[in-house]
Amino acid sequence: MKKEILFTRDVIEKRVRELARVISHEYQERDLIVIGVLKGAFIFMADLIRSMSIPCRVDFVRLASYGAGAASTGKVLLTKDLDTSIRGKDVLIVEDIVDTGCTLSFLVNWLKERDPRTLKVCAFLDKRGRRRVSFEADYVGFTIEDGFVVGYGLDFNEMSRFFPDVWLVSEIGEGEQL
Ligand code: 5GP
Repeated sequence: MKKEILFTRDVIEKRVRELARVISHEYQERDLIVIGVLKGAFIFMADLIRSMSIPCRVDFVRLASYGAGAASTGKVLLTKDLDTSIRGKDVLIVEDIVDTGCTLSFLVNWLKERDPRTLKVCAFLDKRGRRRVSFEADYVGFTIEDGFVVGYGLDFNEMSRFFPDVWLVSEIGEGEQL
């Protein structure tokens, strides 16, 4: 296996603070609800809202890709719905990474049906080289072209979410652990 650090914890911290400043400015005096997409977004979301200077509510959804070939099928299923109503609220979806774009375009369409006042997306990473549906996040932490990344909430077989840095991993042998 090959692995290298792509974004250190210091670089991440600085970028998250910048995003939080922009978002805080945009959502002043608004009724903000931040919706995290489980599980990958939980660390980014926790850091982001603690760096913001405005109040917000939080809620979570969980999504699963289904059909043969997991993330690449393009079919998405909501496996945990919101606990609260978003009607008339300013909603900010927080996601770990945009890859094919299928998950977020599904979620945005799903949530639009609930009549939020506004609906935007903040993604920690934007993997631009693999889009299958056209999708642009409103706020992006870092842009990468391609490759498999882990850490800062992103997993490899449910491990590595707790890594404080983001790693680029390749050539993973069968049964190999990070
Ligand atoms: P999309 O629907 O945009 O293809 O995929 C979104 C989901 O795929 C992300 O929320 C994430 O769970 C997973 N994913 C996509 N790329 C990566 C990656 O490089 N590393 C990890 N750990 N998960 C990824």
